Amino acid sequence: MDNNYLYNSSAIPSTIKVGDENIGNGKPIIIAGPCTFGSYEELDEIAKELKKVGIIFLRAGAFKARTSPYSFQGLREEGIDMLFKIREKYGFKLVIELTTIEQVKKYGNMIDIIQIGMRNMYNYELLKECGKLQTPVILKRNMAASYSDWLLAAEYILNGGNHNVILCERGIRNNNSNETRNILDLQAIPYIKKHSKLPIIIDPSHASGYSYMVPSMSKAALVAGSDGLIIETHVRPEESLCDSKQTIDIKQLKEIIKFKEEFLDYEN
Ligand code: PEP
Ligand code: MN
Repeated sequence: MDNNYLYNSSAIPSTIKVGDENIGNGKPIIIAGPCTFGSYEELDEIAKELKKVGIIFLRAGAFKARTSPYSFQGLREEGIDMLFKIREKYGFKLVIELTTIEQVKKYGNMIDIIQIGMRNMYNYELLKECGKLQTPVILKRNMAASYSDWLLAAEYILNGGNHNVILCERGIRNNNSNETRNILDLQAIPYIKKHSKLPIIIDPSHASGYSYMVPSMSKAALVAGSDGLIIETHVRPEESLCDSKQTIDIKQLKEIIKFKEEFLDYEN
């Protein structure tokens, strides 16, 4: 594993710049927002509350990769335009999942961070397209991927010339019970830090599938050295059009932010 790949070479910057924000500099970031949204009003209401608690990175899906074709697929192009309006209004950095080469060509340079979903971790042509840009990319780990599959997927983006790759652990499927959605693999943090130069963030929402687990798993991830968290958040989680059971509310988000700040103080 430790051969001459870009992911573990000195060619890779240890800190990824997103405008004037940094990812991977020892100060963990929090990305928050709904899985997806059904109207501008809903998005605006959530954005307003996230802004109030100091969130800088807003996540929200417009092109949803759903398990069932009959589930809500996102507001698509119209949703992206709404997200641009919200960025203009509040000054967020936008984290948006893109699912096709055409979307990367059209929006890749316009959004702040491209999210590649776990289903597309193995979509090498899509990864190559992301490699042509300089926009930072969050590469989610496929639920069945080994660390080397994941790092080699990152290598497709790095090899194209885009060195701004952030890995995201979001739960692996190896539990035989249906009691949680997936299992959060926190061991990914020390492994990735030992074997690569890339920052790694944790998604406790898709990992557990339950909002009550999200605060404790977020804290554990920060203590384990995660460079950040990406958390599904809504003002009224029960109304979320997608992934409502795993979506936390603003009060729970505040608890995580408070812990992050206290933990940073403790470390310094
Ligand atoms: C998401 O972030 O909403 C999502 C679909 O994540 P994943 O690709 O990890 O399932
Ligand atoms: Mn989701």
